[in-house]
Amino acid sequence: MTDGRCTLCGETYTKQGMTRHLRSCTQDHVDAGDRPTFHLSIGDAYRTDYWMHVEIEQETTLAALDEFLRDIWLECCGHMSSFTIDDVEYVKPYTEEESMLGFGVERRDMDISLGELLEGGLEFTHEYDFGTTTELSLRVADLGYGDTGDEGLQDHGYGAIRVLARNEPPEIKCETCGAPATSVCTEHLYRQESEAWLCEDCTAAHECDDHLFLPVVNSPRVGVCGYTG
Ligand SMILES: [Zn+2]
Ligand SMILES: [Zn+2]
Ligand SMILES: [Zn+2]
Ligand SMILES: [Zn+2]
Repeated sequence: MTDGRCTLCGETYTKQGMTRHLRSCTQDHVDAGDRPTFHLSIGDAYRTDYWMHVEIEQETTLAALDEFLRDIWLECCGHMSSFTIDDVEYVKPYTEEESMLGFGVERRDMDISLGELLEGGLEFTHEYDFGTTTELSLRVADLGYGDTGDEGLQDHGYGAIRVLARNEPPEIKCETCGAPATSVCTEHLYRQESEAWLCEDCTAAHECDDHLFLPVVNSPRVGVCGYTG
């Protein structure tokens, strides 16, 4: 599993150690503001090398958190997405018809604030793309107060949020020669064959068409659909 870097102090910690570290590091580095925040621990449900911690204002909407996750990790071609919280699905885009398609699960709009839904310790999930799905696990690791100064929460146009820590890029080796991989053949990856992850030289020599290659990027969606980072 990859280590990650704390954006507040620049130190690296293990995935397990980071939650504990952030509890003290946020106290040392953050002028507690007056905006109630959640500290979320987020990771890919299966590709456990990809994880991060964010601080997000409680009045931010689920739609904004979804937008943030798309920006930093997920967006390839505007697929649908959903959060599942306490057996309710919050989907985007949401339509009246959509609410009927939940097969017994209640479906709602994402236009609702985190503060109305989340509490300390709560775990929930996010899915992007209902075909080649990327599934994230989220947990409310802590609650706090933030500010929006230079070092605090940044308004991304859709909500006040900032990254507290993020995994270092995993070392993925070329499956042909062992050099660092720079691209992935989506066809070989899909067929679960070896020689999907390749260095520059081995990419040039690889049998598949150029359009099947995607760049290796630090995201749980690397190699999926048309994701290029
Ligand atoms: Zn730190
Ligand atoms: Zn796509
Ligand atoms: Zn190689
Ligand atoms: Zn291939």
